[in-house]
Amino acid sequence: MKRSEVRGDTMLSVSEAEAVIFNLVQPLNTQQDTQFVDLLAAGDGQSPAFGSRILASPVVSQLDFPHWDNSAMDGYAVRYEDVHECSEEKPAALEIVEEIPAGVQPKSTIQPGQAARIFTGALIPAGADTVVMQERTRREENRVIILDAPKPQEFVRQRGTYYQAGQQLLPAGILLKAPEIAVLAAAQCTQVRVFRRPRVALLSTGDELVTPDKPLQPGQIVDSNQYALSALVRQIGAEPLMLGIVKDEPEALKQTIAHAIAHADVVLSSGGVSVGDYDYVEQILESLGGKIHIRAIATKPGKPLTVATFGNIFGNNARPVLYFGLPGNPVSALVSFWRFVQPAIKKLSGLAQGWEPAFVKALARQELRSGGKLETYIWGQLCLKDGMYEFQPAGGLQNSANLINLAQTNGLAVLPAGKALIAAGEQVQVLRVES
Ligand code: AMP
Ligand code: MG
Repeated sequence: MKRSEVRGDTMLSVSEAEAVIFNLVQPLNTQQDTQFVDLLAAGDGQSPAFGSRILASPVVSQLDFPHWDNSAMDGYAVRYEDVHECSEEKPAALEIVEEIPAGVQPKSTIQPGQAARIFTGALIPAGADTVVMQERTRREENRVIILDAPKPQEFVRQRGTYYQAGQQLLPAGILLKAPEIAVLAAAQCTQVRVFRRPRVALLSTGDELVTPDKPLQPGQIVDSNQYALSALVRQIGAEPLMLGIVKDEPEALKQTIAHAIAHADVVLSSGGVSVGDYDYVEQILESLGGKIHIRAIATKPGKPLTVATFGNIFGNNARPVLYFGLPGNPVSALVSFWRFVQPAIKKLSGLAQGWEPAFVKALARQELRSGGKLETYIWGQLCLKDGMYEFQPAGGLQNSANLINLAQTNGLAVLPAGKALIAAGEQVQVLRVES
């Protein structure tokens, strides 16, 4: 474990920082933090930009699947014992007593020597136990000639073979995507209990920042971080609370941060966490009673990352509010989000599995370089070629202030501390990122 000193505080390695952060996260409560939603709203919420909802309690159905014995083919429902010895040379002739389309209740009970015309999905009539597909039959008016012996119970989908009533249909903690929504719809669960969306407050600090609609004065830049973070927060199914731009003034910052802590599960600020004269965030967190867990991480970009918790201060002793003071540089802010914040919010949101960062092995298409001291992330594109991942670093300057070449990023190649070079054609670990 490598540690070095920054401002008299310890700088954690990436793996140390990750362990601290993920341990601080307490997932939403399966009782208090849930709501019922219409199944149709469970997939995408109010807006297509929102991620899927997460099931908060297991679902059990009182229905068997299939609900009743039904035919898997268009053909004839027969009694196996009437046809089990037949062949083209020795066909069986059966009297057709009924025609059963899907969705219709059969009227007759099939007697020896009888059959029912049946279609895919239709109920198997009483007395019949097997379906002969129509391709193995010949029709002669109200008789059917069976040309081939079926297997016992062939082409009958037996009631309860996929699922039996009373068992667990879906576990808690899973994302409700199209397949799960299909299952719930089929089980007639039109209202489902899901976790509420975590609330994530966003604020940007900096005297130089303006909103994108304002004409730029000399020295000003647009607060792109709040837009990017808002999109990322929505994508993972959380609800952004955009608190806007706050000047580098301690009193204004303190007020906004206090408001954020009181109204959110997670607070993300960007800027003001470095060592500059106008970097006030950390002292404000302490003055508000926050416990600071991390001040810096041995990574590039993203070295200044403040992680704090606020617990019990509003009489709410359930879950501490998690505070992430992200660096201001646009690339650093997003890399820190992808590497540490996104998994933390996913864990908090109630996901039972799959909230951890996902790395894949890829071949580097070009050589990848770092300063060698800090764990370094190089942004770019992960592509599949002949079933193998390849990583193409973004063209142009890999500089944490250059957000322009961040566009199309879907992977961050990792150069571990101490590894200054990965040659073209060598294998590299790549963090998959949602953008
Ligand atoms: P800071 O961490 O406050 O020292 O900011 C580092 C750099 O990131 C400075 O060049 C800032 O202008 C820039 N920056 C800070 N906040 C934002 C933001 N919200 N959007 C875009 N750039 C920012
Ligand atoms: Mg600043």
